[in-house]
Amino acid sequence: MHNPDVFSFRFLGVGSAQAAALGSSCGVLERAGVPLLLIDIGVGALDRYAQVYSDPPAAVFITHAHLDHIGDLEHWFYRLAFRANPGLPKLFVPAAVVPLLQRRVADFPNWVAEGGRNFWDMFQLIPVSDYFWHAGLRFAVFPVRHHAPESAFGLALRGSFLYTGDTRPIPEWLQKHAREEERIFHDCTTESNPSHTGLDDLEREYGAAVRSRLVLYHYADDEAAAAMRVLGYEVASSGAVYPLANPNEESTVEHWAAWSQS
Ligand SMILES: [Zn+2]
Ligand SMILES: [Zn+2]
Repeated sequence: MHNPDVFSFRFLGVGSAQAAALGSSCGVLERAGVPLLLIDIGVGALDRYAQVYSDPPAAVFITHAHLDHIGDLEHWFYRLAFRANPGLPKLFVPAAVVPLLQRRVADFPNWVAEGGRNFWDMFQLIPVSDYFWHAGLRFAVFPVRHHAPESAFGLALRGSFLYTGDTRPIPEWLQKHAREEERIFHDCTTESNPSHTGLDDLEREYGAAVRSRLVLYHYADDEAAAAMRVLGYEVASSGAVYPLANPNEESTVEHWAAWSQS
């Protein structure tokens, strides 16, 4: 039996855009083993999800509009469009990413040849800004450093975890949203580049206490993972499950009322 308050995070894929064998980087927040929120849905994510869970995802957060993070949306649309009672999965999308998603995926003429369906008929699109509620939890959303400003975002559940999405180092956001004992799931491979974090960046940008809480993902290949492990870093594999501390009050209590009553 799972304890109902036990949270965990399961990686379904850990690869960079060129690392198909490692799976498109994505993962699932679970409570008592039940999937609450899938983060990103790149090519192959739905099949990997189906290998673990009996039902398709009910909620997805999208970090940004690169295809290794959204590439399965088209596939998902077609699975839903021809089902009798498809439900209405929630897509939590940072408001600034919505126009990009519209252009890259949704804006396709006549989604089904028979007509009568729009892309957004199959999903509940929920544009989000700094915070959003889902499953009784309050998630924080913040911009990261990946290509154009305000085009890629990370996600945090205070007290529990922070997921960077694709990014250069972001010490300012870790200080704001991961200053307790949160697990920090962080983009990293061996070599840094203008849109991703490399090992030398970690040493320069983060202190030892933060580095000890990092779990690295979105890397190039198994050799890169081995090179990062040799230096003492925790490196996620596809299928790895990380137990999480419980979310703190900022993630669970209705905010203003809690403060005014204390
Ligand atoms: Zn990526
Ligand atoms: Zn990207």
